[in-house]
Amino acid sequence: MAIIHVRPGDRLHLKSIASLFGAASKIVTVTGAGISTNAGIPDFRSKNGVYSLGRRRRLFDSSVLSDPERRPRFYSGITKIRQDAKRVSPTKTHHFILGLRDAGNLVRDYTQNIDCLEEKVCLSTDLLNGGVECVLLHGSLRRLRCFNCPGTYCWEKCDREMETLAGLEPLCPGCAKISDARTARGKRATAIGTLRPDIVLYDELDPRADLISAIARRDLLLRPDVLLIMGTSLTTHGVKNLVRDFAKVIHKRAGKVVFVNLTEPAKSWDGVIDYWVEWDCDAWVQDLTGRQPALCSRVVIDLTGDGEQVEMMASRGHNQWQGSSWDNPVDLTLS
Ligand SMILES: [Zn+2]
Repeated sequence: MAIIHVRPGDRLHLKSIASLFGAASKIVTVTGAGISTNAGIPDFRSKNGVYSLGRRRRLFDSSVLSDPERRPRFYSGITKIRQDAKRVSPTKTHHFILGLRDAGNLVRDYTQNIDCLEEKVCLSTDLLNGGVECVLLHGSLRRLRCFNCPGTYCWEKCDREMETLAGLEPLCPGCAKISDARTARGKRATAIGTLRPDIVLYDELDPRADLISAIARRDLLLRPDVLLIMGTSLTTHGVKNLVRDFAKVIHKRAGKVVFVNLTEPAKSWDGVIDYWVEWDCDAWVQDLTGRQPALCSRVVIDLTGDGEQVEMMASRGHNQWQGSSWDNPVDLTLS
């Protein structure tokens, strides 16, 4: 089946898509950089993006870690990106995903973004917690992890942010503790690892890959009825497989796969994607929620006190993210 191309003025197809969502109760979302661009975050993973290291070398290539010249620039570049990401607010699309969660219509959100805007709308991203709502496919800029041990650590503490901004690599406190305890007992010191951003670079293996595929397998068994892909060109291997697996299950139930992106999907997605909505993600979300107001959770409040009820979109705000998730997170060790 060829992909149906839907443009902003195409009322008929936009209405069909809205009906699809109106009837769906198990929606899986897959998102990419395009849902954060309206927040002011550029697509910094792209080859020629503003954060490339010149000569078409990407900041996010795993080769940066084996190149002594590029490695300090990677640390300082990524720290600047993180500082920028901390300042911005989530977009309408992030709030829409939260609304799907609140209305009980979201199976899971899978994102390639590392900007933590999902945490700002208070979607749970903790993989070790059974209630993870947003799976961070490429890790995130929230914490640092050790090259040597499975520990992850708060980026803000112990001047670590100042060090990484200067292109330096903070030492792992977990490794240091073990080594110190050994030398105190008269034993040989052990290796102390350095800390790196807790993200997945191109051509790198994700240390959480097994956990993520177990979650995806469980979601496939739930037999979702709509897969919504927003703001990604679906170029990374893992995401391609994830989308194909969900599409197979969804099509068996006569469900649909909706792709919202400004760039046309490749021909190889024929038979996988049903609709390509060529529109800005926030603009489409606005259109969809206008057609299907019940899709996102709404709270009814009495503003006037005389029984006249006013409907408002439920909003959790983003104070939790600023107050705790990034600034004082609990140290987490993957073991
Ligand atoms: Zn360590």
